[in-house]
Parts: sequence; structure tokens; C-alpha cells
Amino acid sequence: MNKLFFNIKRKIYKLFHPQWGEILMLHRIVPAYNPQSKNAHLEITPEFLEQTIVKYQKKGYLCVTLEQVKEQVLKGKHFHKKFVCFTFDDGFADNFELAYPIFKTHNCPFTIFVTVGFLDNFATANWYKEQPKMLSMEQLTKLSNEPLCTIGSHTLTHPHLTELDFEAQKREILLSKQILEQWTGKPITHFAYPYGDYNEQLMQIVESCGYQTAVLCNGNYVRRGQSVFALKRKILSMNSH
Ligand SMILES: [Zn+2]
Repeated sequence: MNKLFFNIKRKIYKLFHPQWGEILMLHRIVPAYNPQSKNAHLEITPEFLEQTIVKYQKKGYLCVTLEQVKEQVLKGKHFHKKFVCFTFDDGFADNFELAYPIFKTHNCPFTIFVTVGFLDNFATANWYKEQPKMLSMEQLTKLSNEPLCTIGSHTLTHPHLTELDFEAQKREILLSKQILEQWTGKPITHFAYPYGDYNEQLMQIVESCGYQTAVLCNGNYVRRGQSVFALKRKILSMNSH
């Protein structure tokens, strides 16, 4: 009985909160995929990325920027089609070397959330067993001058933000924005919570620091009624199709 009630409630919720589209979360693009790799869920091949873009375009989805997602969510109005928005976390060099040319070929916008401390391999993502190459300053500059690419912030050091005190949270969120703005010469208005770790206070800090959106990593669709400071994303992995 409870289950039936839950299902009905869920159906009514979906009716009033239509699914508008998907923000996809990606990490690395690797030439050779190894399903046994510890990081397999964070890696896709260039071919798979290309097939994914083509698949969405064939299904009639609009490939949009985070800015466009924000506008739709704030206006509460549907585009005439469903959308897909591609985003990368952390700032791996393969995003520039392998993904960028594919997005360019298909004229498809994308966002890279850069962890400031990882640039030029000053520090590296510690959950990776091997030491992947991170974006260089030169690559970041090229990407920030590319109209299809949006650069967002993914903090200074990639911490679990909810475990920090207020001052440290603010430093990670605001200083990363200011440094990226200085490096790129562009306003940085989009933020990704490391590990999708967030709460009400963090949403307020992100907003007060001048960001316009922030994304999570728990898999789900973007629906009417979501906050622009807690936009849901779906993980794109080799098992996604
Ligand atoms: Zn991350």
C-alpha cells in the first residue's frame, strides 16, 4: 500500500516537474578504455564521446551551455526541445587534447570545472592511482578563448566542503573564482561542488560570491523547480548507453 502511494506521489510530482533535460558529468577521455581500471567509471573514449553527442543530436536534443540551462530554470519555461549540457570536472589535459576537437567538430558547447590547485600538475587528484596529466596554463588560456567552452570553478584544493569551517569554505569558493578570473580574463560564474558535497549554507556562500549556478553529481534530470545552486547531473560512463 505504501509503495503504491509512493508511486502515485512520484507520478504526480513528475507531472508538475517535467523533465527538461540532462547535464552530463564527465571526467577523463582516454584513448584505451580498461574496464578493470580503478577509475573506469570516470573514463570514456573519444569514440564514445562522439557517439554520445551524435545520439543526443539525432534524438532532437539541443546542446546548450550552462548559461542557457540557468535561464531556462530561472524563467521556468521550457525550450521547445529537451536539452543536454556537457560538463567536465577537475581539469584533465585530455579534455583539451581529446575532447575539445570533438566538441568543435559537432559545434557543441561544453564546460570544464577547473580545480585551481591541479593546474600544471601543481597538485593532482588524489583519488587517481596514476598521476594523470592536468591542464596546463597554455591549454586553459586557449580553452577560455574558445566560444564553445565555459570555464567554471571546482575550488582551490578539491575538499569535502561540508567538513570545512565557514572561512575555509569561503576561501575555496571565492578565491578559486578570483584566481580563475585573473588567469582567463573572463567572469567565472559557474561552480561544481567537489564530490557533490553541499548543503544550504554552501549554496548561500556560492550565491553571495557571485556565481550564477552550481552543479551536483547525483544522477538525475534537470526538472522544473530545482535551484540553480543545486543543479543535478548524470554521470556519463561507458555503461551509460
Ligand atoms: Zn572533482
